[in-house]
Formats: sequence, structure tokens, C-alpha cells
Amino acid sequence: MEMKEYIESAEQSLLHTYNRFQIVLDRGEGVSLYDLDGKRYLDFCAGIAVFALGYHNKEYDDALKAQIDKLIHTSNYYYNVPAVEAARKLKAASGMDRVFFTNSGAEAIEGALKAARKYAYLKDGRTDHEIIAMEHSFHGRTMGALAVTGNPHYREAFEPLIGNIRFAKLNDFESVLAQVTDKTCAILLETIQGEGGIHPATRDFLTKLRALCDERDILLILDEIQCGMGRTGEMFAWQRYGIRPDIMACAKALGCGVPIGAFLLTEHVASHSLAAGDHGTTYGGNPLACAAASKVLDLFESCHIIEHVRLIAPYLEQRLDELVERFDFIKTRRGVGLLQGLVFDRPVAPIINHAVENGLLLINAGADVIRFVPPLVITKEHVDEMISILARCLEEEAPHK
Ligand SMILES: *Cc1c(COP(=O)(O)O)cnc(C)c1O
Repeated sequence: MEMKEYIESAEQSLLHTYNRFQIVLDRGEGVSLYDLDGKRYLDFCAGIAVFALGYHNKEYDDALKAQIDKLIHTSNYYYNVPAVEAARKLKAASGMDRVFFTNSGAEAIEGALKAARKYAYLKDGRTDHEIIAMEHSFHGRTMGALAVTGNPHYREAFEPLIGNIRFAKLNDFESVLAQVTDKTCAILLETIQGEGGIHPATRDFLTKLRALCDERDILLILDEIQCGMGRTGEMFAWQRYGIRPDIMACAKALGCGVPIGAFLLTEHVASHSLAAGDHGTTYGGNPLACAAASKVLDLFESCHIIEHVRLIAPYLEQRLDELVERFDFIKTRRGVGLLQGLVFDRPVAPIINHAVENGLLLINAGADVIRFVPPLVITKEHVDEMISILARCLEEEAPHK
């Protein structure tokens, strides 16, 4: 079938929950993707911050193939080697103590919320605990994750969601304090808001939240699903702030394409929250997904991914800043490491569509921000190529200063 026919067939059979770009992707190599017609795209989307190692990494592919030949699924009634290995490596990389593997980011958030509620329940036996989340946050599409997502537009049609959620403003400590009550059991935020427009939490804000949580025995939950796994030049974004969360959610790049997420807890929270029978999953922690995560964590070390991000990110920032200088309609750049956003004074969808037509995959973060979440293995040449395609699209959008 031709690409056009596949798209028509998709429109007849898939539930229409996305307005997709009109291309059918077929294969990947490094930081390039190819559609069915063989057209190449430079990928600065990476499957939404997933494919950190680039496509067709031989060692990663071989590890998965070997695991397929051994064992794909066991259920959690038994132990399996890849899950043990992946948990050990993830603990070492994060400094957290206990791991629960899930199949997605949203499920990692669900588990984190359950752990927080159980922790509070064990303290006072009450069932009216509250969670504080941030406006403009994004935590996933399941009912619990949606309830803490600070975008009323995503939530409205699905009410009632889980109750007792209060919203505060990111980087406005007073707005958090105003929502704290004696029922507050957790404060949840993305260390760097992704979907919401690339807004990093400030050091001051996180430090104050940590102190507040310590003082009131409230759990600090950090969502590292998008900003974690090396993207900021630290394995996890919170590691540059000198604090540690009580619970952390991780997913996206953890499996580099194979669906896997995790929530991690400190020993204290783990031993005072979810116990046998409280939580479970059929697929979570299966050998295939864990073999992927385990290999990803190995490759982060052997390929010096973090060091590479620290080297290449300043160059991306510099080249993006040049665009801010050059084009009036770009207001500013925001971000950390290889999680960057260009903020426009207008909707960015037409610019992104234009870029895709010209062989560059980009995504937005809100209506007016172009988000840059490339594979972590990009080089200066890829950055230059991206900038030159994007600059051409911007030229056509409006004349330069
Ligand atoms: C993508 C994302 C999620 C949801 O992850 P899924 O795997 O799509 O369920 C949650 N939080 C953040 C910050 C994300 O970027």
C-alpha cells in the first residue's frame, strides 16, 4: 500500500484522538526517521523525549532480541533477572531505595498517588487526604493522573475525577502554602514542566517545598517522566538542586521505546505505604521491558550520555538564542539541557507543520512554544542542520529584524 492509503485506512479504523502529521514512519537510524516513501526526517522529537539513544542502536537492539529468545513475560508472581538488574541500576542512578515498574508514565503517577495516600492513611486512619499539584502541569491521561493535571481543558469532560486535589502555582511558594491544610499528604510537581511550556522549577522553590514537606511530614513527589533520564545533564533533573524527593515517577526514555515506567520511593516511604496486595500489574516489570531499561542504563554509562548532554546542550542553547535575536516574533528561550522551548507571540502549529514538510520533526508544548527534545546523542552537525531548516521556515513566517 501507498502512504496515502495507509493514512486513509488509519482514519477509518483508529480512534480519532490525535490530529496526526500526514506521514507514515517506517524506520529509524541514529537521529533520522524515514517514511514509507523513503523521505528522511531529522528527529528533534524523539518519540516525545523517549528515544534518548537514537534509533537502531545495535547493542540495545541485540539485548532485546536476545531477551525475546529467552523470555518475554512471567507475571509478578515470580522473580526475573532483567527486573532485578534494572531495579538495581535505577536505584544506583537515582539514589532512591525501592522501585515499582509500570508500563507507562501515567501508571507511575497512579502508583505514586496511591503510595502517598496509603502513607497518610497509615498515620491517622483518615480517608480525606489532599494532594497539591501545580497549574499547567501534565501527569498523564488516566483518571488519577488527569486529576492532578493542571489543565482544566483536559479534565473537564471526565469529571468527577479523584477528589481532594488542590492546585498551586509553580515557583510561587506562597500559593502552595495557601493550599496546605492538615489533610495535605503530598505535593506533586514536574521538576521541569514539559507539556505546560517548558517551565523549570527554581532552586528556591524546590528547596522551600522540601523544607515544608519535612516539617509537616508531607511527601514530595517529583514527576521526572519527561525531564529525567539524562535530558538535563543530570540523570534526574532534581539532582542538580541538592534535594531528594520522597517518591519519583520515571518513564519515557527509561525504556528508549519499549513501554516501561517506574515509581521509586525512599526506604522510609516504601516501608510505611504500599504493602503486599496493595498494588499490582500484570505486565509491569516484565523481562522484555526490563531488559530494555537495564541495557539503556548500561549504555548511558558506557556511552557517557550525561557528559555528552552537558557538552552539546550549550551549543543548542546558543543556536536557539541566535534565533531569538534574529526573529521578533520569538519572545524567549526556556529550558535546561536538551529539554528546550522557544516561546512565540503566536501559535506555532503552522511553523511546525512547515518544518515537518521540510524534513524536520518538532513538537509544541502548549499553543505558542516549540519544544526541542532530541535524542540525547545528537551532534553539533545535527543542531546546525535543525537550525538551518527551522530558520528557513521562520524566514517564510516573517521577515527578520
Ligand atoms: C508523558 C508524560 C506523562 C505520561 O506518560 P505516559 O507514558 O504517556 O502515560 C506524565 N508526566 C509527564 C511529565 C510526561 O511528560
